[in-house]
Amino acid sequence: MRMLGTTAPSIRTAPSTVTLSHDAVAANTARMVSLAGVPVMGVVKADGFGLGAASMARAVLAGGASELGVATCDEALALRAQGINVPLMAWLLHEGAPVAEALAADVAVSCATAPQVRQVAAAAREAGCRGIVELEVDTGMHRSGAAPAEWPELFHAARDAERAGALVVRGVWTHLGSTTPDPGTFDDPIARLERAVALAVGCGLRPMRRHAASSLAAVVAPRARLDLVRLGASLLGIEPVSAAPVGLAPAVRWTTRIVQTHAIAAGERVGYGGDYRAEHDGAVALLPVGYADGVPRSVSPGATVVIGGRRAPLIGAVSMDQCVVDIGHLNGVAAGDPVVLIGTRAGEPSLAEWARLSGTIAQEVLTRLGPRVARGGQEEA
Ligand SMILES: *Cc1c(COP(=O)(O)O)cnc(C)c1O
Repeated sequence: MRMLGTTAPSIRTAPSTVTLSHDAVAANTARMVSLAGVPVMGVVKADGFGLGAASMARAVLAGGASELGVATCDEALALRAQGINVPLMAWLLHEGAPVAEALAADVAVSCATAPQVRQVAAAAREAGCRGIVELEVDTGMHRSGAAPAEWPELFHAARDAERAGALVVRGVWTHLGSTTPDPGTFDDPIARLERAVALAVGCGLRPMRRHAASSLAAVVAPRARLDLVRLGASLLGIEPVSAAPVGLAPAVRWTTRIVQTHAIAAGERVGYGGDYRAEHDGAVALLPVGYADGVPRSVSPGATVVIGGRRAPLIGAVSMDQCVVDIGHLNGVAAGDPVVLIGTRAGEPSLAEWARLSGTIAQEVLTRLGPRVARGGQEEA
């Protein structure tokens, strides 16, 4: 149990538990390391996609990832506080970010603008160390990174800070926006990255590495693998191309237990608004998870859970804390019975199924799991 005002539930007391299989994540990492043929940065941002950054980090390192990546300096410092001492990079420098602390903890920091370079150089002086920096360039996604018109200013600022002894520029990198499995969609951004690297060298920098690919490009576009790939979703078993899987193992399991069962007569209705009307006499079961826990309202009707090896459909509107499943076709179901919401085995509802039913991607399903869902480091029986 944590102390002092935190409400994080323990696995034994929580209404539901999500477990991340260390072995599956390690196996997926090993699979991606061999497929990519270059070093892998395991991306464990957003608390390891909502599953626990430290447990995801330990599993990807066990599987052969060479280093870790996160969005913010705070996330990097949280990993250091948990005793994770491998190379680590943070790439989202927001106002007020604890940059000096991060540099002092040997976290590499990515900059996308000249003011950020100067901010990091000042933080390095404050921390009394030489900061390791990478420079992010935009190559067409127009999200983060320096636009081409700003490259000279960014590279000159970095060169000045390097000459002043505050920083060392280790890499130049970009992020790729394409979500289609066509490798040609990555050619133009990679060519732009190469131009940025050439310009950086022309400005007097000596970046050791270039990187661009996350899971999708790492799988479909060998030319985008460059010197490193930054992988998150694939390490959790989310196939980048569902139609052409590369053999990743599902790693996430979300389970709960039935709270209550009751009979329902033909014609009776279930849930807010009475959206569901029973066609015949039957029975329903109450589950202690709702949309605040990450069961999207959009998955009912449509989603099914598994109780005692059999599928049971969600019925009626999902509430904030609770939802109801139809068990009229099942025998002997009782309060306390285990329920699989998201499974890892054949016949169980998959993460991909939940994502499809709720009109989103698997990553969003995971990061929406709420604070009442206990995070377990190992898969339950
Ligand atoms: C999230 C993220 C990744 C990992 O992407 P996946 O699709 O999960 O493999 C890589 N790089 C950056 C900058 C990211 O934000």
